Amino acid sequence: MDEAGRGSDGGYGLAPGRRARLRRLDAAHHLHPFTDNRELAARGTRILTHGEGVYVHDQDGRRLLDAFAGLWCVNLGYGRRELAEAARRQMEVLPYYNSFFGCTTEPAIELAAELARHAPLEQAMAFFTSSGSEAIDSVVRLVRHFWAVQGKPEKSHIIGRRNGYHGSTVAAASLGGMAAMHGQGGLPIPGIHHINAPYWFGEGGSLSPEAFGLQRARELEEKILELGPQRVAAFVAEPIQGAAGVFIPPSTYWPEIQRICRRHDVLLVVDEVICGFGRTGQWFGCQTFGIEPDVLVVAKGLTSGYLPLGAVLFGPRVGRVLQERGGELAHGYTYSGHPVCCAVALETLRILERERIIERCQEDTGPYLARRWHELGTHPLVGEARICGMVGALELVPDRRVRAFFPDRGRVGARCRDLALQNGLILRATWDTMLLAPPLIIRREEIDELVEKAWKALDQTQAELARG
Ligand SMILES: *Cc1c(COP(=O)(O)O)cnc(C)c1O
Repeated sequence: MDEAGRGSDGGYGLAPGRRARLRRLDAAHHLHPFTDNRELAARGTRILTHGEGVYVHDQDGRRLLDAFAGLWCVNLGYGRRELAEAARRQMEVLPYYNSFFGCTTEPAIELAAELARHAPLEQAMAFFTSSGSEAIDSVVRLVRHFWAVQGKPEKSHIIGRRNGYHGSTVAAASLGGMAAMHGQGGLPIPGIHHINAPYWFGEGGSLSPEAFGLQRARELEEKILELGPQRVAAFVAEPIQGAAGVFIPPSTYWPEIQRICRRHDVLLVVDEVICGFGRTGQWFGCQTFGIEPDVLVVAKGLTSGYLPLGAVLFGPRVGRVLQERGGELAHGYTYSGHPVCCAVALETLRILERERIIERCQEDTGPYLARRWHELGTHPLVGEARICGMVGALELVPDRRVRAFFPDRGRVGARCRDLALQNGLILRATWDTMLLAPPLIIRREEIDELVEKAWKALDQTQAELARG
């Protein structure tokens, strides 16, 4: 390793002394999210040091192909100078001002207007947050307020889905349907309900995907009737359920959900935190699935992950009521509409348009990735390969002729993930489902490398299983 910490393969690592010191400090002082911290402290954290394009470099100077775009967010890839420039310019001009008390800043206004131009909503109005979780918490409060100011305070119950993921704050984790999250910290809060997910591979039984999609959508109607439509404020859902395992819903699902929400006058809130800004091959997952939402939630790809920023986008029905009849909104964050974050988001949207990145995914790299991803679906360890645009999953199963899981769920997926990492590929595993969400700028030759490395990891996992 040379002075700059450049490793033998030209990547950037940390000198051994520094690496050991950082790991020691991390173990002593840093609690990691979604991590068994005792186990991590014993093992030593991975430290990422640099990134460019679809690659990141770790402490040992190894170059890793990041097929998960950080955490579903680095859509433009690493090392985009324009984004750093946009942040620097705004920091020099005006690093902070709030949007309270009748004020705001130029980037916040421009970004609200740009989001309205792109979002599949008429005359959208944006409420800014610093994260997806805060945006979902804002939805819970503002949607209830929307009904209350129209004389319907009892229309306050909100329905989410089992294994949905909407973030980690109190309301967002309640609305999500992750059992492990509900098990910590006294969740869910009152007034939140869940229906089952349209996860055909895992739960579809002998039904066709289409019949199953309808059945799962109709659970929403049953739940609304059980609670009473006059008490249900909103249904909140991701177009594709991401964290749970990239559940791509059957074609029958969303049209039926839409019908049910309209029929019972329940607001349809679509969580586009993963799907927004090109992930499914269109600007928003709503467009891919033909959904007409009342409210949209965005974060992650909004800044390509370069700075924390989220937003709730209200369609005309809700936005106008909050504006005209909402009174003083008793809700907001110090960093709502943070000018530096908004400037970086504006530049992110400009790059997406200028470089026609979403069109390229739709016309070229998306179909290519789909073809190659489905090749992985022929591997003996894989029961299903599914993909929509630039987000996909592989189901690892003991017998690919049967849609059934490994008995000790999660062990094989974790092993496959670790082997992929040893081969220089970052994939995520949820139980035994391998998840894919590469930066949208990934090129064909990088897709080839990704598939080759994933195949090798599958082979190695299978060889280990055969050895027992
Ligand atoms: C990540 C995520 C969130 C939460 O966003 P944070 O910025 O982590 O708070 C909400 N919804 C979905 C679908 C997500 O993937």
